[in-house]
Amino acid sequence: MQRYGHFIGGSFVDPAEGEWFETKNPYTGEAWAEIARGTKSDIEKAVAAAEAGFEEWSALTPSARGKALYRLAEHIEADAARLAEIEVRDNGKLYAEMFSQTKYLAEWYRYYGGLADKVEGAVIPTDKGGIFNFTRYEPIGVVGMITPWNSPLLLLAWKLAAALAAGNTAVIKPSEFTSASTLEFMTLFEKAGFPAGVVNTVTGFGVEAGAPLVEHPRVSKIAFTGSDIGGQKVYETAAKQIKHVSLELGGKSPNVVFEDADIDAAVMGAISGIFAATGQTCIAGSRLLLQRSIHDRFVGRLLEVAREAKIGDPMLAETNVGPVTTPAQYRKVLDYIEIARAEGAKCVLGGKPVEDQPGGQFVEPTVFTGVSNEMRIAQEEVFGPVLAVIPFEDEADAVRIANAVDFGLAAGVWTKDMGRALRMSERLRAGTVWVNTYRAISYTSPFGGYKRSGIGRESGLEAIKEYLQVKSVWIATETSVANPFIIR
Ligand code: NAD
Repeated sequence: MQRYGHFIGGSFVDPAEGEWFETKNPYTGEAWAEIARGTKSDIEKAVAAAEAGFEEWSALTPSARGKALYRLAEHIEADAARLAEIEVRDNGKLYAEMFSQTKYLAEWYRYYGGLADKVEGAVIPTDKGGIFNFTRYEPIGVVGMITPWNSPLLLLAWKLAAALAAGNTAVIKPSEFTSASTLEFMTLFEKAGFPAGVVNTVTGFGVEAGAPLVEHPRVSKIAFTGSDIGGQKVYETAAKQIKHVSLELGGKSPNVVFEDADIDAAVMGAISGIFAATGQTCIAGSRLLLQRSIHDRFVGRLLEVAREAKIGDPMLAETNVGPVTTPAQYRKVLDYIEIARAEGAKCVLGGKPVEDQPGGQFVEPTVFTGVSNEMRIAQEEVFGPVLAVIPFEDEADAVRIANAVDFGLAAGVWTKDMGRALRMSERLRAGTVWVNTYRAISYTSPFGGYKRSGIGRESGLEAIKEYLQVKSVWIATETSVANPFIIR
């Protein structure tokens, strides 16, 4: 079996405590590699390497950093198929999806490579005479990056590309379920000519390796993507040291369909919203809000399409729905199906494990109707292929139901009325609103959550500021003879 050590200071190293754990293929259920089980001592070494790397990396001109990121993007594209295959082996998502993701993530490194030398301070037109005031943007330092298992390299790119362009260095702690692709990715940095120590990866479990990273006094910022509960713990710990934090957390996103919508397009949007990636995406459209007048017709059409979904091997092009990634997540999805039944929701599709597949982690695409927005199935993130259908009467009712949830990551609206589309996009309390589409994302556009879905934004121009701090510099142009005991 293959073994992966931590990546610290440009080389792979064994874990300080000498402990390893297995990583499994969710489709076959078989272990395929051993991963270093990191602890506080490994984090200590990685932070020291990242601090040494910071001296060199932050001293480069922004243009030189940008060029390094361009070279990295070339290596990512050349290696995209291999990286995608490794991600599928660890998270069981469809190869077709992961390959398009691993190719696409090169664009984040190009975009922020291009942005590196375009972050400008300003000359401030001050009210004070005899003094010149300007601002400059500076990197924050060593950034700890903690990622989940659903799209390891893409969600890392959203952080790392901006952080490196800004002159920071990184210690990465990937999910214990999907460490291999991040470790393989580390080898591309040497090929692209990055100094050792600029990126480091320590693998292991949340409490053993993630927590010491968040607690480390010389880690200046934590960028976290994961569950809201995990994010809350990270935020509480980081608060003790007044650390910079950005959090990309969970969602319970509404997909709202009005009676005037293009029904066929909206059905496809609803399916892609919940069954793509077996429902394991933060932006899953897990609450389908249907105007009552089209409810039955829409559900009928949705079931026709969803029933045809081909369940199976994620490596095959014809597969639509793969396994759930982790055993705990598999049990959680089945538990929520039981909770929904007990709450009185009606299961009109699926609702059971799939027995004839290897690995034992498949759940049927599942649809519940008769859901009211107060039920747990409408309020809590399942992170699986389970859709809650909720009827509404009119626009005001749709807004009320859509916003009556703790999360605010994304929302979809389906209507041909552009006035309504604009009104809805203003009133929905979510970081992203899609109209007549679902799931569009790009390196050019800010992404992040309202409410319990997070703090800060990733992607787009503004996101580089998440990795910079601004300094105000005052230079006297005339000697002051004012009374030094009085502050003016
Ligand atoms: P998780 O919170 O269980 O784990 C995420 C990461 O945090 C892992 O690397 C884990 O080891 C680490 N971790 C756990 N406890 C920690 C602690 N006490 N201190 C430091 N690190 C700790 O999340 P998950 O199950 O891996 O991922 C699924 C979740 O991620 C879902 O809630 C999903 O919505 C969310 N997600 C959000 C986005 C987004 O951009 N908003 C994207 C993808 C996934």
